[in-house]
Order: sequence, then C-alpha cells, then structure tokens
Amino acid sequence: MKKDDCIFCKIANGEIPTNSIYEDERFRVILDMSPATKGHALILPKEHFANIYELPEDWAADVMVLAKKMATMMTEKLGCDGFNLVQNNNECAGQTVFHFHYHLIPRYIGDNQKIQWNPTSPTADELKEVHSILTK
Ligand code: AMP
Ligand code: ZN
Repeated sequence: MKKDDCIFCKIANGEIPTNSIYEDERFRVILDMSPATKGHALILPKEHFANIYELPEDWAADVMVLAKKMATMMTEKLGCDGFNLVQNNNECAGQTVFHFHYHLIPRYIGDNQKIQWNPTSPTADELKEVHSILTK
C-alpha cells in the first residue's frame, strides 16, 4: 500500500522526479538531497512502511541484500574508504521522514563526518539486568 501524503511513497514510485541510482520491483535507491558525504543514498521501499517495526520480514531480508549490493557497487565506483549503513526509527532515534529508509553512506578518510553516540559506563549489575530483561 502507498500512503497518499507520503513524499517517499511518491518518490519511490516515480511520481516525483529524483536522482535515482537503482530500481527494481520492490525498491528505488535515490541520492539524499542533503548528503553527509559524496554519494549518500537512500533505499526506499515502493510500499509504505513507517519504520522497521512495520517492515515485513521478507522485505527486511531483501533490503539487506540490496544494501550489500549497493555498498559494493558504490565503493567500487566512488572509491570510498569505508561505508556506514544507518536506519533510524521514530523521532527520538533521529527519524525525520516516516517512511522506512536505509541510509547508504560512503565514508572517506578525513571526511569529518560523525555517526556516533556517547559511550556510557554501566556497572556489571546494570548490564546483567538488561541481559535478564532481554533473555527471559
Ligand atoms: P531520517 O532522518 O533518517 O528520517 O532521514 C531522512 C533523510 O531523507 C535525510 O537525510 C534527508 O536529507 C533526506 N530527504 C528528505 N527529503 C528528501 C527528498 N525529497 N529527496 C531526497 N532526500 C530527502
Ligand atoms: Zn510512504
């Protein structure tokens, strides 16, 4: 299903022109309009899923295979030195467009970009508590 008021639905389905670098039955890959680095691209499903929680498992499997293929092709063509795959879900995690998308971010030595978090220092007990929540 598409969502009428969703810009990424329109872009993914060719209703709004964009710099498309790949397309198949399920996905379109476009250049990000405010790239972190040269070549920063987004994988967009052609169906509307707001986030990873809504994305069906078979689409999730396909998106990872496509991300690997795109990262390989882009690294060869752009000559980048590394690569980040980033995927944000919900506002508190930095999502600004609420149609699932996977960021493909080529990295270059000295590119001065940061995709980082502040490491914290939980105690062994605190780690154990999280472990117990996630394994019971
Ligand atoms: P996120 O913060 O993970 O939701 O990422 C949204 C990304 O979409 C940002 O990197 C924006 O620069 C990018 N973006 C938003 N609108 C467009 C558009 N019309 N065409 C290309 N990229 C877009
Ligand atoms: Zn959408």
